[in-house]
Amino acid sequence: MKIYPASLTEMYVEWDLQGETFTIYRSTSPTSGFEKLAEFVVQPFFIDKSVNLYDENITYYYRVEGFSAGVKISEAGPDTLEYVEKDNVANKVIYESKVLLKQMKNPPVFFLLKRRVGMPCPNCYNPITKRIKFPNCQVCGGTGVLSGYHDPIAARISQDVSQMIVASDAYDSDKTALTPIRAWTANFPRLHPEDVMVDIMNQRFKIVGVTPRTKSQYLIRQVLDLVPLEKGNSAYSVPVDRRMKPIV
Ligand SMILES: [Zn+2]
Repeated sequence: MKIYPASLTEMYVEWDLQGETFTIYRSTSPTSGFEKLAEFVVQPFFIDKSVNLYDENITYYYRVEGFSAGVKISEAGPDTLEYVEKDNVANKVIYESKVLLKQMKNPPVFFLLKRRVGMPCPNCYNPITKRIKFPNCQVCGGTGVLSGYHDPIAARISQDVSQMIVASDAYDSDKTALTPIRAWTANFPRLHPEDVMVDIMNQRFKIVGVTPRTKSQYLIRQVLDLVPLEKGNSAYSVPVDRRMKPIV
């Protein structure tokens, strides 16, 4: 489990746990008093918007449980921030970055976060070699894990989207040697290499690099390196409702 301040009033909690849905609990004591913040969460993260990091006397502890078909199959925590520094300037810069992204009025993009742990894909995963048999498996999106991506999340990026629509046949799938396209997004959702970005035209890109821009311990924004995926890539098999509203 990883816990970051997303601003002085928001905490970002992230986990790698098995489960289709997750329940998140919080307490100000590591041993008791955990109350349920949310359940049936399908993403591997939660943004707690009811924290007050201005008050340095409060410590927040989080626990997460993963469920499959109503049965608890995993858990993590209690965990907390290792170090809290109140940084009003970082807080302001985070806010201004989000305002800037909104003002650009770019069409939203959709992130498919790769499922990092889960049930092995019955179609392509070989339990003996512990490898996938076909990289373009349509069942798991080539991840080797059943339902290989979490549900899409709409967000904003700064990049003229028209520049991003490139002839995909100029690229050799994942093995491209060409310079990736750069874009930046706000501080959440936290992105990782191998997550996928979908633009409003349904062009799909693999995130090959994420460079955080930080101040103190605060993540201000994330600079992304993106490589277009060929139309035949299995990431195209994940449905995305492109009318979804951005979370930031
Ligand atoms: Zn598969």
